[in-house]
Amino acid sequence: METLGLIGGMSWHSTATYYRIINEVVSAAHGGHASARISLQSLDFSEIRECQIAGDWDRAAALLTEAAQRCVQGGATTVAICTNLMHKVAPQVEAAIDVPLAHIGDAIGAEAGRHGWSTLGILGTRWVMEEDFYAGRLARHGIGVVVPDAPTRDQVDAIVFDELTQGIIRDTSRATYVDTIRRLADQGAEAVVLACTEVGLLISPEDNPLPLIDSAEVHARHLASIALGASLPTA
Ligand code: GLU
Repeated sequence: METLGLIGGMSWHSTATYYRIINEVVSAAHGGHASARISLQSLDFSEIRECQIAGDWDRAAALLTEAAQRCVQGGATTVAICTNLMHKVAPQVEAAIDVPLAHIGDAIGAEAGRHGWSTLGILGTRWVMEEDFYAGRLARHGIGVVVPDAPTRDQVDAIVFDELTQGIIRDTSRATYVDTIRRLADQGAEAVVLACTEVGLLISPEDNPLPLIDSAEVHARHLASIALGASLPTA
């Protein structure tokens, strides 16, 4: 079995989701006491958050790059960044290691392709909704995106950092997200990407007017299949 390198802690609430799902899939495949080989680097999210607020992406890239290298030193043969937003520095991380980086956008692209969806709504942090590092990766899979309007993007981003990454779950925030998903449907989305790895802790498919792609779940399943020997789909 391959050893997965996980760069986590962003936040730890969603890294726990990755850890659980990867092990569930490996255990179901191999049975008995089987579990995944994982080399985990769990970062202090307060340091990463400071970089985000200051716009210091070079420092963020350095922190993630060092973590990726430590994953490889720990035996990882594939590395993953367990957040959507921090894929903003994926090119620097990828360049610093000699094993593949399993990009979250490729896992989402493959999932959308399986369903035949070509227009996805994006719900995540403001950089993920606004910048090309994310939409551009999905475009490589033939996927177009729609995003909420600016005031709603601010609200969605604030719920991520004021609540979800701190483990706070509020019914009012769930209602805001569901309402936003309804409006993304009106803008032409066929499905919505929960493009923040904690949003799956807030909302679930039964709450929603559109099919959902939970980025943490889809990325974790993708990683589990790599651990079990599947090839790495990229675009
Ligand atoms: N986990 C979130 C994401 O998937 C946001 C936390 C972060 O990485 O800043 O984008």
